[in-house]
Amino acid sequence: MRWALIGASTIAAQYMIRAMRAQPDGEVVRVVSGSAERGAAYAETHGIATSGTDLDTALADASVDAVYISTTNEKHFAQAMAAIDAGKHVLCEKPLAMTLADAAAMVRAAETAGVVFATNHHLRCSGSHRAVRDLIAQGRVGRVLSLRVHHAVYLPENLQGWRIKAAEAGGGVTPDITVHDADVTRFLLGEDPETVVGQIGETGLGQGVEDSAMSVWSMPSGAMVMSHESFTHPFAGSGVEVHGTEGSIFARGVMTQNPVGEIELVTAEGREAVPFDDHDLYVEGVRLFAEAVAGRGQPAATGWDGVKSLAVALAVREAALSGVRQTVDYGDAK
Ligand code: NDP
Repeated sequence: MRWALIGASTIAAQYMIRAMRAQPDGEVVRVVSGSAERGAAYAETHGIATSGTDLDTALADASVDAVYISTTNEKHFAQAMAAIDAGKHVLCEKPLAMTLADAAAMVRAAETAGVVFATNHHLRCSGSHRAVRDLIAQGRVGRVLSLRVHHAVYLPENLQGWRIKAAEAGGGVTPDITVHDADVTRFLLGEDPETVVGQIGETGLGQGVEDSAMSVWSMPSGAMVMSHESFTHPFAGSGVEVHGTEGSIFARGVMTQNPVGEIELVTAEGREAVPFDDHDLYVEGVRLFAEAVAGRGQPAATGWDGVKSLAVALAVREAALSGVRQTVDYGDAK
C-alpha cells in the first residue's frame, strides 16, 4: 500500500510512518504540508521521496492508494472530502472533524465513493484493551455496574501548541482525549453512552480552551461511566477499571500509545494477573486498515466509530458549558 501523509505531524513522525512501513508492502511516498520548507525538511528526515504544499497534486498521483490525515483538527474535513473525491482510502485522525455534521458527511461520502474510511483510535488495537473486553464478554465480572477511565496526563512540552490555546484548530482536552475515552468505553462495553453530565476547566496549561474534563455518562444497560481527562497531571497515571456484580478489572497504565501496563482481575476467588499481547498498537491499526482495503474485514475503528466518539466529546463539552445534562446526539450514525 502506497501512502501519502497529509500533515507533517508529530504523530506520523513518532508512530505512523513506522507503522506503515512495518506492513509487508507499506510505503510512504508523499507528504503534504502547509509549508514547503517544513514539508521538505520532514520528507528528508523521514526518507519520503516527495513533499509539497498542494493537496490536489498529491491526490492526483495515481500510485497513491491511501492517505493518512494528521493535520490539526479543523483541516481534517476538507482534506478528507478531497481525498475521498479522488478515490483514495482514508485513515483519519481523531477527532474526525469540528462538528458532528462534518464528521458524518465524511463517512457518508466515503461510503458513496466505495473507499475505506477509518478513524485512528489506536487504543482498540492494544492487547490490554482487547483482554479487558474479552474478560467482560466472558462474563468474568458478571453484570457491568460501572466503568472508570483515568486519562489525566501531562502534555509533553513539544505538544503544548495549538492543543492548549487554539479553539479554532480544535484544541482542548475533550476533542483530544475524551474522544479516545468514549471510543474505549464503546469498545469495551459494546454500547453507546446515552446522556452525559460534565465539568471542564483550565488548570494550568489551557489558554482559552479546556485542559481538564470530568464527566459521567449513562449507558443503555444502566452502567455508569466516570471519565477524567487532563493535560496537566504529571503523576496521576492512567487506567481503566470495570466493576461488575461478580468481579472488578483494574487495568493500570493502559491509556497510552505503547503496549504497556498491567491488568488485574479481582473476584471472590482472589486476585489474578491477566496477561495480554504486547504488539505495537499503531502497526496493528494500519494492518487492519490494509486488510479492510483488501476486502478483508473492517478497520479497527470505522468512520462511524469516529463520529460516535466525537458525539460524546461534544456532548461532554456542551454539558459542561451549559451546566445541563446532555443527551448524546449521534445524528444518523450507524
Ligand atoms: P502536530 O502539532 O505535531 O501536527 C499538526 C500540524 O501542525 C502538522 O500537520 C503541521 O502542519 C503542523 N506542525 C507540526 N510541527 C510543526 C512545527 N514544528 N512548526 C510548525 N507547524 C508544525 O500535531 P500532532 O501530531 O500531535 O496531532 C495531529 C493530529 O493527530 C491531531 O488531529 C491529533 O488529534 C491526532 N493525534 C492522534 C493520536 C493518536 O494516537 N490517535 C496521537 C496524537 C495526535 P503542516 O502539515 O502544514 O506542516
